[in-house]
Amino acid sequence: LAGALTAVTLRVGDLAGEWDRTGLLPLDLLHELGAEGRLCAEVPEEYGGWGLSSMHNGTYTAHVGGLCGSLRSVMTSQGMAAWTVRRLGTAEQSAGYLPRLTGGELAAVGFSEPGAGSDLAAMTTTVRRDGDSIVVDGHKKWVTAAHYADLLVIVGRYEDGAAAVVVPADAPGVRVERITDPLGCRAAGHADVRLDGVRLPADSVLGGYALPLSLLVTTALAYGRISVAWGCVGILRACLAAATAHAAGREQFGEPLAGHQLVAGHLADIFTAEQVASRVCEHASRRWDEGAPDQVVATVLAKHVSATQAARGAATAVQVLASAGARDGHPVARAYRDAKLMEIIEGSNELCRLMLAQHALSRPE
Ligand code: FAD
Repeated sequence: LAGALTAVTLRVGDLAGEWDRTGLLPLDLLHELGAEGRLCAEVPEEYGGWGLSSMHNGTYTAHVGGLCGSLRSVMTSQGMAAWTVRRLGTAEQSAGYLPRLTGGELAAVGFSEPGAGSDLAAMTTTVRRDGDSIVVDGHKKWVTAAHYADLLVIVGRYEDGAAAVVVPADAPGVRVERITDPLGCRAAGHADVRLDGVRLPADSVLGGYALPLSLLVTTALAYGRISVAWGCVGILRACLAAATAHAAGREQFGEPLAGHQLVAGHLADIFTAEQVASRVCEHASRRWDEGAPDQVVATVLAKHVSATQAARGAATAVQVLASAGARDGHPVARAYRDAKLMEIIEGSNELCRLMLAQHALSRPE
């Protein structure tokens, strides 16, 4: 793993700020990283992945998250697509799609719609059977990495349940409309996806049958949540490094900023945030790797704690750097904008709290 961390550090170099300003990641870099299996490193080796445990994949995701939130977001989407194929697809579908996802093709996952954000049960995208084909109609919103994607995993209503369908981005009837001005993760390739009578072979439906929508959503989002949680740990580590270096190096009132107790208090707060987020993520990944029954709640907890800590920690880091960090492209400015979005996606703060409350209420005496 150490070699992989160094390799991705070298590939990103000092370019993350420029990618943030231009709103684009280099496509050749994404294809290269994809072809080395680096964008979905949990995929087993038999499918061309690295077969990393959740703990090791988390460490890797945090590292990338500290370098570039947009690249980490693309990784999360790729990993979520691969996870959905593994969990819902047949053995043949895994054998068909996973080597493509570890071989350089890029993927994104679309749930959200104009009328179905937090309330995914309100989704209206339809998948219907027509002879040997299926036909997909709908409108997906804010799909991370869709601008770069070759394959789109689209969730829609199917018969009396729901289905996840693998849709080639260049299939007739697919239109990908880039969101050019997101608040954060600006180079993550967010896009709206319109699907207008998209006709595909029937075996494009993962698993080939209707599933309860809640099961399908929970399955796919589980990977997204743990990946975002670890990405937030990376944001906090980057903020801690930037804030401590700045506070140790710059003097005001005749001594280093860190010598002023209110500034030292900010550093303690960022360190605490990083430690708390790291521990909940390690706990969640341990539960994943053990296949423990409480892995779902551990994952929601990790996502919620890490996102809130990252949003707060990044704001504190900007405060410590003040004007030195107050420009687009600076690591703490990026972290501030990127972290805020982590409180919205893969289950907003409010939705996570509702899930955690439900869990608390359902616990045995
Ligand atoms: P709304 O659902 O309208 O919610 C607005 C506010 O009300 C939120 O604070 C919410 O928490 C709160 N709220 C809503 N219902 C309740 C309730 N019952 N109780 C308490 N509070 C409530 N979607 C995809 O499908 N794929 C992606 O890859 C993807 N990537 C994204 C990346 C980014 C950067 C962003 C911003 C969004 C992305 N989304 C993606 C969409 C994302 O999943 C939704 O934005 C999210 O689910 C919230 O939906 P909404 O924005 O419509 O907010």
